[in-house]
Amino acid sequence: MSAAGETQVVAGRSCGTCTLCCKVLAIEELNKPHGVWCPHAKPGRGCAIYSDRPGACREFICGYLVSEGLSPEWFPATSKIVLMYVDNGITAVVDTGRPDAWKAEPFYKQLKAWAVAFLQHNRQVLVRVGNRTIAILPDHDADLGPMEPGGRVIIETAAGPMGTTRYRARRADGAPTDQRADGAPNQ
Ligand code: SF4
Ligand code: SF4
Repeated sequence: MSAAGETQVVAGRSCGTCTLCCKVLAIEELNKPHGVWCPHAKPGRGCAIYSDRPGACREFICGYLVSEGLSPEWFPATSKIVLMYVDNGITAVVDTGRPDAWKAEPFYKQLKAWAVAFLQHNRQVLVRVGNRTIAILPDHDADLGPMEPGGRVIIETAAGPMGTTRYRARRADGAPTDQRADGAPNQ
């Protein structure tokens, strides 16, 4: 995986001691689900079958490696967040062992800023914690519940009071959605 239009690893960046994508991502070729360590992973050290690793592993480059503007805090081994730039925006895949990592700063503020900017171009920012998917919206975060990777999310807008805009996210599969991720009632 790489950022749309960005495939060059930023000078000076490397995986180093990070192996987080070997836990949080599913690897079809290995029948490995997301959220569990790959049996070949040596957490913090690397891959036991590096020279024979599947194609998906060879091709994967996380957003941190290709995004020059991201600060060192985003190093996935530290942040516990693997950024994936996908066709319709950004998905932040969070370590299930630290499910609230995305709410910490500077990550949350950046996710919100991306959400505001991306929505102007019909793109979206999603957080995934295991199967749970959360849409980051300018005015709240919408917990969409368990979704398979690649499940589509639709974001709609409506006029709010005093000229404001309200946002709503829903799953394209029609399941009831848009519980606020913070548990507060929707307004
Ligand atoms: S998450 Fe990124 S930095 Fe970490 S091992 Fe995977 S590709 Fe490398
Ligand atoms: S095969 Fe190696 S690179 Fe691929 S997920 Fe497993 S440990 Fe990581």
